[in-house]
Amino acid sequence: MPFTPYHFGPGLLVKGIAARWYSWTAFVATQIVIDCETLYYLSRREYPLHRTLHTFVGATIVGVATAVTLMAAKWLAQRTAPGFVDSLRSRRASIRAESSTIGLLVGGLVGGLTHPLLDGLMHRDIRPFLPWSDSNPLLGVIGIEALHTGCEVAGLVGLPLVGIWLYFESRAD
Ligand SMILES: [Zn+2]
Repeated sequence: MPFTPYHFGPGLLVKGIAARWYSWTAFVATQIVIDCETLYYLSRREYPLHRTLHTFVGATIVGVATAVTLMAAKWLAQRTAPGFVDSLRSRRASIRAESSTIGLLVGGLVGGLTHPLLDGLMHRDIRPFLPWSDSNPLLGVIGIEALHTGCEVAGLVGLPLVGIWLYFESRAD
């Protein structure tokens, strides 16, 4: 971590910037999957808590795998309940991006790449550049307080930006 929900703020900021090509849903799902690693080792009291899934390579693979899983879930939903899925389809591109192929892939990739970056700033046991390097040059670049505040501010900026996208898309209808 930082405590998983802190990641959601920067994720929301990206949604506010690139709403039509990015799925915040895939981003959030990726954060949760990656932090299952931490939870697993924490529950077993085995250290380090941050291992393969908290490297850039591992987290990126998780991001892509999460995106593919969500694509498969969408495909399955379309096969089993096409009427229901159609009723959810929005004319707003920024909402459609939540489940579009490009949106899911971009969301998963951004989710995977940013997770070790943010966690690496505050956790001593993270080796983000494995298998190439055993060091963590990110550690302590900014303080924990500033990191948490930054994540909150990112979310507070991102939310109204998403609102602006939705507003203009609804006017274009
Ligand atoms: Zn984490």
